[in-house]
Amino acid sequence: MSDPARNKSPVVHRRVLLKIGGEWLAGPGDRGVDVAAAGRAADRIVRLATLGVEIGVVVGGGNLVRGGKLAGGALRRTTADAMGMLATVINALVLAEGLGARGHETRVLSAFEVGGFAERFSAAAARRHLEAGRIVFAAGGLGNPLFTTDTCAAVRAVELGAALLVKATNVDGVYAADPAVEPDAERFTSLTYGAVIDRRLGVMDITAVTLCMENDLPVVVLNFAQDGALEAVVRGDRSVGTWIGS
Ligand code: UDP
Repeated sequence: MSDPARNKSPVVHRRVLLKIGGEWLAGPGDRGVDVAAAGRAADRIVRLATLGVEIGVVVGGGNLVRGGKLAGGALRRTTADAMGMLATVINALVLAEGLGARGHETRVLSAFEVGGFAERFSAAAARRHLEAGRIVFAAGGLGNPLFTTDTCAAVRAVELGAALLVKATNVDGVYAADPAVEPDAERFTSLTYGAVIDRRLGVMDITAVTLCMENDLPVVVLNFAQDGALEAVVRGDRSVGTWIGS
């Protein structure tokens, strides 16, 4: 594999939607919000923005609330999911603050009204902010329970006209088996949407993959912590991550 950090080809994906899980902003035990961790995430996004790429961001909320796990007993799923969606707004605010401190203009757009902290999301407003060079956060998920932020990322990517959906994880792609359990497991360099769905590879939920398939939106799964990985994929470097398409 070529060294992604040394790839200096031209950028081919000028507008991307970056999905990062809430765990990238977490403190010990993948829980809570850690400002230093958010700063490290912001540094990675800055390196991508420096290439002139227009960036929409969907950040999850799993470090604070994951509705499906929390619900049960006296807590209804719809309430737990509402809490999860609010958690994504908290995470977007932290990350946007980190980017602002690094000299980048941002806008946090929320799927629901949250007072003065964030604008209400609309695709038209989000596109205008992107065109003006701002990093746009699509926060609050889709505003409805029973969805994940992966599905939100797929919807927002299509609405924003992104050329690529980047799913930033803590592994360098999609494997045939969990590499932590089976160290020799094969990493796929590319997969079809159909294979991801049929083999239940679990990289994103099936609703998200189906939406990408129906809208012919390419997806790349990569390791957010790998130096140069984000920059390489916008340059079309297919040796990095796992590329999912038709
Ligand atoms: N959520 C929701 N609707 C959405 C997006 C998210 O109800 O459109 C809730 C759901 O409870 C989810 C939580 O918000 O578990 C946090 O999102 P997610 O689990 O996708 O976060 P991640 O795992 O990416 O950190």
